[in-house]
Amino acid sequence: MSILGQMLIGSRHKTGTSKPIQAVNPRTNERLEPTFAGGTAADVAEAAQLAWAAFDTFRNTAPEKRARFLESCAEQILALGETLIKRASLESGLPLVRIEGERNRTVAQLRLFAEVVRAGDYLDLRIDQALPERQPLPRPDLRYRMIPLGPVAVFGASNFPLAFSVAGGDTASAFAAGCPVVVKAHSAHPGTSALVGRAIQKAVAASELPEGVFSLLFGSGNEVGAELVKHPLIKAVGFTGSRSGGTALMEIAANRPEPIPMYAEMSSINPVFLMPGALAARGDSMARNLVGSLTMGAGQFCTNPGLIVGIEGPDLDSFIQVAAQALDGIAAQTMLTPGIYAAYTQSLMALQGHPATQTLALGQTELGPNQCRAAVLNASAQSFINDHTLRDEVFGAAALVVSCRDVQDFVRVAESLEGQLTATLQLDRSDYAQASRLLTVLERKAGRILCNGYPTGVEVSHAMVHGGPFPATSDGRSTSVGAAAINRFLRPVCYQDLPGELVPEALRSENPLGFRRLINGRVDG
Ligand code: NAP
Repeated sequence: MSILGQMLIGSRHKTGTSKPIQAVNPRTNERLEPTFAGGTAADVAEAAQLAWAAFDTFRNTAPEKRARFLESCAEQILALGETLIKRASLESGLPLVRIEGERNRTVAQLRLFAEVVRAGDYLDLRIDQALPERQPLPRPDLRYRMIPLGPVAVFGASNFPLAFSVAGGDTASAFAAGCPVVVKAHSAHPGTSALVGRAIQKAVAASELPEGVFSLLFGSGNEVGAELVKHPLIKAVGFTGSRSGGTALMEIAANRPEPIPMYAEMSSINPVFLMPGALAARGDSMARNLVGSLTMGAGQFCTNPGLIVGIEGPDLDSFIQVAAQALDGIAAQTMLTPGIYAAYTQSLMALQGHPATQTLALGQTELGPNQCRAAVLNASAQSFINDHTLRDEVFGAAALVVSCRDVQDFVRVAESLEGQLTATLQLDRSDYAQASRLLTVLERKAGRILCNGYPTGVEVSHAMVHGGPFPATSDGRSTSVGAAAINRFLRPVCYQDLPGELVPEALRSENPLGFRRLINGRVDG
């Protein structure tokens, strides 16, 4: 499939009329063909109107039809074959093998959501049967289900050109809920976005769904994104990116005449606590594994371990020594975009220049453009607690080791943290009592707590939470990865005393769809 440089508005291709975007190969700084003319407010309106026109039909599709549509999206993406893999690697600087893995994850996410739709549990069906004889007042017949919110705007992420972009987790969960989607492509990978967009466009047509179920817009300089979030027919937003971008869009979403939910995943330093028993028993292997997690993909993961907390003394010294040796062998890696590289260099220089930090170890120097040289720095717990700038995310392979005097300091460091996507405890049995106190704090701070693991690598499954209090996300009540991500795009409706013929199929007394339901507070089926 060739890359046309056009937006997709429903079933049509449309050439934009605003400032063009051109992808850059971050390995060479060469521009990649073609150019993608950006969209305007008029294109946003056209896509949103089509999405709204498609909404009622799409949301009322039978579960099997919607599940097959999700599977068809997966098949069409696989059919793009090497063209997609090569283009995504060129535009992102990510190795082919990583892109292949990400494509498989994208396809698996779509298939997981197909199963979620078939199972029907997301509808949270409840029936409270009428009690006409109840005294002093009869109880009406009450039937409850979740319905989709309406068209969703999705912002593609720079760091996951497939799994968190055009057909990524936000889009898959919105489709599963029954919401049409308008994607604002990330300007770093327009070619990848166009290819995946056409795959979805084909799946919409093959599934005989209304064309407005999916549109893809391009645009840089914030205009298209801001217009999309402002548009009255857009009813929710999914975003992964910077804290500044996420908070700017949160403000737009909240200040609309009709405010809408905005699910932004933004910034997290993912603390790892080295409990003393574990540090003494296996500090060396922990150091090597942590360096592996820190430097994977040039550290450009939202779950990258940017903060390592330990108790000062010979065990931490030895941990740092092994980590430094491991880091010494790590080659500099190409970052996603020149802008992300510039932001990394600037943030790292600021951290290195901070009077309270020392640079403990560096990876190998850069050999090409936009390469991330990994770094591990050190600061005391007191400095870390006193100065919030030490708690800012550095997006890339840089971590700060915070030295504590004792485990009480662990609790104080944890209390000083903002909301996090993850928090990790490296612990042995001898650490359980102290870990239990820390857990109470970490539950308040993070969306996922790991023991003896490393935060990079997020399982896509039913029990996963990839969320957390602000600024990890804009709404800590949700997850953007895993089956529960569908809940972001749903709201409950209760039907009181509706005649049987008008009751939605899933709530009919005879249960024609065979879904699990709560009848008078008890699980049925
Ligand atoms: P970004 O600058 O926030 O941009 C993400 C998307 O949001 C782009 O499509 C951008 O559109 C749009 N956008 C940003 N600000 C906007 C605004 N004020 N109004 C309307 N639209 C807006 O993120 P990025 O390009 O992916 O990376 C920049 C930085 O984000 C990185 O250096 C890193 O610090 C952080 N980041 C964090 C994570 C994480 O998971 N924690 C992931 C990726 C990036 P335009 O192209 O039109 O500007």
